[in-house]
Order: sequence, then C-alpha cells, then structure tokens
Amino acid sequence: MVLAFLGVVLVLAGAVWRYGYVQGLDQLAARGQADLALAGDRLVGQLQRYRDLAVVLADHPDVRAELEGSATNTEAVLLEVADKSAALDIAVLDRQGRVRAAAKGSLARELGQERFVQRALRGALGWGHGPGLPLTPRAFYQAAPVFDDAGKVMGAVLVVTDLNGIDYNWRGTNPAAFFTDAQGIVYISNRSELLFWQRPESGEGLSPPAAETPEFSITWPGGHEIWHLGWGPYLPQEALHMTRMLPVIGMRGEVLLDVAQARRLAWSQSAAVAALCLAFGSLLFLAAERRRALAEANMKLEGRVAARTVALRDTNAQLLREARDREKAQAALQQAQADLVQAGKLSALGQMSAGISHELNQPLMAIRSFAENAVQFMERDKPERAAENLARISDMARRMGRIIQNLRAFARQDSTTRERVDLGAALHSALELTQTHVREAGVEMEYAPADGPLWVRGGEVRLSQVFVNLITNAVDAMAASDIKVLRVDVDQSEVITVNFRDTGPGIEMPDKVFDPFYTTKSVGPTGGMGLGLSISYGIVQSFGGQIRGSNLKSGGAWFRVTLERAATQTEAA
Ligand code: ADP
Repeated sequence: MVLAFLGVVLVLAGAVWRYGYVQGLDQLAARGQADLALAGDRLVGQLQRYRDLAVVLADHPDVRAELEGSATNTEAVLLEVADKSAALDIAVLDRQGRVRAAAKGSLARELGQERFVQRALRGALGWGHGPGLPLTPRAFYQAAPVFDDAGKVMGAVLVVTDLNGIDYNWRGTNPAAFFTDAQGIVYISNRSELLFWQRPESGEGLSPPAAETPEFSITWPGGHEIWHLGWGPYLPQEALHMTRMLPVIGMRGEVLLDVAQARRLAWSQSAAVAALCLAFGSLLFLAAERRRALAEANMKLEGRVAARTVALRDTNAQLLREARDREKAQAALQQAQADLVQAGKLSALGQMSAGISHELNQPLMAIRSFAENAVQFMERDKPERAAENLARISDMARRMGRIIQNLRAFARQDSTTRERVDLGAALHSALELTQTHVREAGVEMEYAPADGPLWVRGGEVRLSQVFVNLITNAVDAMAASDIKVLRVDVDQSEVITVNFRDTGPGIEMPDKVFDPFYTTKSVGPTGGMGLGLSISYGIVQSFGGQIRGSNLKSGGAWFRVTLERAATQTEAA
C-alpha cells in the first residue's frame, strides 16, 4: 500500500512538474518573442542608418558629377562622410558596377557580379553581406541607385558596414541571439563563439565551420522547441529556441533562452506538491496505523476477557462444587459431633452406673422392708403404722422416679439448636446425677443455689452433661487428696460464669486438657477416654460460650464455663 501510494505521489509530482514546466516555457516563449523582436529591431535599425546614408548620397551633386565625369574631389567627400558615419567604406559605382570612386579603396574594382549591385543598377535598393577583406571578415553591403535627370539609373552608391562594430555593442547581453543568412550561416550574434557556425543538412541546430559537431539534440515539450547543447560556458545547457524572419535585411533572427529557471520552478512546484501529499499521506498512514493498533489491542483485550470469563466460570463452578462438598462434610461433621456427644453421655452413664444402681438399690431394699413391715402391722391390726410405712414407700418410690427421670433425660439425644435454659436447674440435675459418686469419694460439695431462675443460652441436657463431666473430673482428681472440697459458684456480670474449683493436684498440662483423647487416667473401670473435656468444649462453644481450665495458686484445678445471657423470656424456643 505504501509503495502504491509512493507511486501515485511520484506520478502526481511528475504531472505537476510537466505542467509547471510547460507553463514556464509558455511564459519564457512570450518573453523570448519580445527579446527577439527587440534584437531584430535593433539590428535593422542600426543597418537602416547606412541604407538611408546610401540613399541620401545617391542624390549628392558630387556623386552625380563623378558619374558624369566632371568631378574632381569625390573621394575626399566620400572619406569624410565615411568617417563621420562610421561606415567601413563608401563607393560610387558606374553602370557596369565598376568602382569609380571609393572612400578607402579597399573594395574590389569590379562589383558588377554582386547581386546587391545588380539590384541597385536596376533601380531598386540592394543589400547583401560577405567578407569585406582586408578590412573585416563580416561586412554588410547596401547599394542605392543614382538617377540622372531623365530618371534613368546612371550608377549606384555602395555603403559598406562593419558588422563587427554592430554586434560589438551588444555582445554578451542576454539572451543569446544570432542571425543567420539564407545559407544558414550565423553572421551576426551577441555570442562571438557562434559566428560562422552553420546549419547542418538536417536543418536542425548548428555546427562549427571546421571542428567536430558538438553535442546536440532537440525535444518538443508542449510544442516548444528545446535545444540540448554542450556549447560552452556562455550558452545555456538547455535552451528554448525561437526564430523570426527579418526580410528587411534578408536574415533570420534566432534566440536561445535558458530554461533552467522554468525547470527550477517546475521542480519546486512538484516538490511542494509531493511534500504536501507525503505529509498528508503520512498523517493518514499514522492515523490508520493507530486505529489498527487500537483495534488489535481491543481484540486482544476482548480475547483475554473472554478467556478470563471462561476461567472465572470454571472457578465458580468449582467453588460451587466445593461449597456443596463442604456443606455435606459439615453435615457429616455435625452428625459425628452429635454422635460423639451422645457417646460421651453414654460413657458417663456407664461410669456412673455402679453408683446409680446403688442409689436405686438402697430405696428398693428399704421399700421391700417397709412393705414387709407394713404387712406385719396390718396383721397385728395396726393400720396407722402400716399407713406410715406406705407413705415412706411412696416417698422412696418418688425419689427413685426422679433419679430415673434424670437418667432418662441425660441419655436423651436432644436437638443441637440453641434454646433458653435455667442455669440453676441444669446445675441441680448435674449435682443430683453425680451425688452418689461425690458422696462415695468423700468429697465435700460447696454450692449455694441462686434465688430464682438464671436464664442462659444453651440446651438443658447438654449443659448438664458439661457440668457432670466437670464434677466427675474434679472428684476423680481429688481421689488421693487429703482435703476434698469442690466449690461451685456462679458469677453474674455481663456474661455468666460458672466456676468449679477443687483441692486436687491441679491440671498437669493446661494446654492439652481440651484435646481429644488426652487423658492421664489409667485404663480400667475409672479410666477415661480423654473425650469428656473435648466434647464439653464443643458443646459450650456451640452455645456461644467458652470453657477454660487453669490451676489455682493453692494447687487445685479451676474450670470456668462462660455462657451468654438469654435476654428475655419470650425468646424461649
Ligand atoms: P477423662 O476424664 O476421660 O480422662 P477428660 O477429657 O474429661 O477425659 O479429661 C482429660 C484429662 O484432664 C484428665 O485425664 C485429667 O488429666 C485432666 N483433668 C480434668 N479435670 C481435672 C481436674 N479437675 N484436676 C486435674 N486434672 C484434670
């Protein structure tokens, strides 16, 4: 495309050059016509003076007297006239063309053969050119007839002009001009080097008389004749050639006008057009390039956006899949946790079962003996004593019922949703569940229940499970201690904290106690699985609370369970 554009610009510049050149040549030709007319008029005007001189002399009485044979001093008169008019020579010829008198006597004696003499002797004005040796190589001859009184030609006056003197005046002026005669010989010129050059047989150009023909050719741009020359430093290399006939002197005027300026003008015009086109083209090219680059960048960007979109969609799908998987895993985890909680409860029940069966066995035995006694009282007809026994039996049965109710509730698998719980009730049921164990271990419980309900967020059974676990752990820890006191109290501030402080040896590794399967208890009936605290941790956290374990300065362990308050009663699930 760029090459094509450059080609078009080149063609356009060429056309502009051609047009500008032809225009320049037109102008040059107009000026050349004027120059040519001026040069012709100048030459003719200068020669005309001598023609008029010949005509005037023809009427001179001394001339007629000379021809009539009566004159004595004609040559002196002619010499004076010649000197004053700067003529080369002046002669009076008789009817046969013989010189009768001459100013300088340089001419041949017989001139009857010359055409210009013959014309004058026929009564007309005659003119011609030729060498005027020995005075000049180029002379112009003009002859006027001399008439007698009867009007017949009696002779002629011949005035010879030195052409050297004429073109000497305007030698070197511009433009180069020359005048050729009928034979095509340059006879007069303002460039002396062209004198006597001759038109060759081809009729075109000029060639020097003796030497080789120098470089020459002709072209015709726009109908103008252009000569291409190598004719020396004083002639143009390329010239517009123009001619004009000068019949008055029998010659042809020619000029050679330098076309360099027209050429320069054409060049500058075409260069300006080319520069403009190139500048405009470059602008267009740059704009097109810019647009192309933008479009390319746009396409790249769109491609990248599309690729990124696809990648994003894939990632999205992947994320969705992962989210679904995670939800599934979460559900499985929750289920596993619930199962773990349940397992923890059952394990606690297993641990407690000896105490519980003892707890149930004792009233059962009492019920049996009370019933037997009641039967005996009935037999002895002491119904009031029997009634007393029955009332005791009823009391014990109620107590047993409460224990069983607690156990059932403890073993129940409750929902994991958070609800509102009375902290006092949960603590109470935990203490009841563990009271046999506590009593058998010889541990003294210090606990002052609060007045009225204390609502916290959580599930009753699971909260009891946490407390049962903490109490059991404390009792187990104090097995070898001398003083066995477990203090349980409730701190009521913004959050509610339940503290369990014992007088045992303290926690061995406080950082580890909540890790699953961490236990210091040896395997056996009292041996643990190391799951109790880790399950409790999970439960309390699910209520939005916290469980922490540390050691007291006095040596025992201190577990704190922090729980959120349940704001109002209507929040109950
Ligand atoms: P387990 O009771 O089955 O060992 P836990 O998770 O309930 O499992 O307890 C983990 C460990 O924490 C116990 O083995 C014990 O070393 C320690 N620990 C728990 N409570 C106390 C406490 N009150 N005093 C000293 N150590 C305790």
